Amino acid sequence: VSKSRKGNQFELFKHKLVGKNDHILVLETKLRHALKQNLLELHYQPKMDLKTGKLVGMEALLRWNDEELGQIPPNEFIPFAEECGLISDIGEWVLKKTALQIKEWEKHFLYDLRVAVNISPLHFKEPDFVDKLNAIFEETKVRPEHLEIELTEMSMMDYNKDLINKIQEVKRLGLTVAIDDFGTGYSSLGYLKQFPVDTLKIDRSFIVSITEGESGVAMVAAIIALAQALKLKVVAEGVETKEQIEILKQYNCEYVQGYYFSRPLNVEDITLKIQKSMK
Ligand code: C2E
Ligand code: MG
Ligand code: MG
Ligand code: MG
Repeated sequence: VSKSRKGNQFELFKHKLVGKNDHILVLETKLRHALKQNLLELHYQPKMDLKTGKLVGMEALLRWNDEELGQIPPNEFIPFAEECGLISDIGEWVLKKTALQIKEWEKHFLYDLRVAVNISPLHFKEPDFVDKLNAIFEETKVRPEHLEIELTEMSMMDYNKDLINKIQEVKRLGLTVAIDDFGTGYSSLGYLKQFPVDTLKIDRSFIVSITEGESGVAMVAAIIALAQALKLKVVAEGVETKEQIEILKQYNCEYVQGYYFSRPLNVEDITLKIQKSMK
């Protein structure tokens, strides 16, 4: 990967690392170190059933807090990790960590929720992705039914038979698969009926536009109708207001995630929330 491409990602950290002679190398070293030393963290955002208001699952979201640079957002370090070849190791860590967390929850209470994990297309396309995934379940004894994999619509753009087969293999293990950021990929909708996915996650930008006029509502209503016609579950991402909730209810959106209900929470706080939801 050329330095100039990495340079774009790096722009944001420059001001914090002035004086260092190789900024990109510093950042890469820091990320490698964070991964090796278990300094990355997962937070969990609740997913709610809109009708019942009940917690039905969550999404694991990666956090990196560097002692020198502070909190670095995943939208910045994930693309960087993809460029410097660290993304598969990071994804592997996230899957393993999530499985171990589920196991921990199972130890303390009857845990029966599903956790969604974001997977980079570069990682998903690795030839041994499914074998390694399977190994995690064999090693931890966690049931694959506890996990969902989120792939962005963007990552499905160059779709082909291999990708369809891979999704099928993952599903055969017992996991479910969601299309993340749905509506932002500018891809032909043709792929939807070919891909054996379970869930569409409507991108936050559409949820924002709900309150910006009729066409915004029409778009969201159309996506929900599409999901229902294809018998897919549908999740609205980034729900922040009561007004958005009301409109989503009106169009029978099943599931919601967003600050209105909860921000992503650290392990301690999400554990409390799960326990409360079981009462
Ligand atoms: P995403 O998978 O679409 O996740 C949703 C993002 O929206 C999260 O940002 C979440 O914190 C944020 N969000 C949730 N509700 C609201 C809301 O009501 N309002 C607003 N403004 N934002 C909300 P986050 O955690 O910063 O993650 C950003 C992106 O980074 C994720 O988008 C995902 O694409 C990627 N990412 C995060 N963790 C991982 C990971 O473990 N692996 C991979 N490959 N990508 C990850
Ligand atoms: Mg996601
Ligand atoms: Mg998303
Ligand atoms: Mg996203």
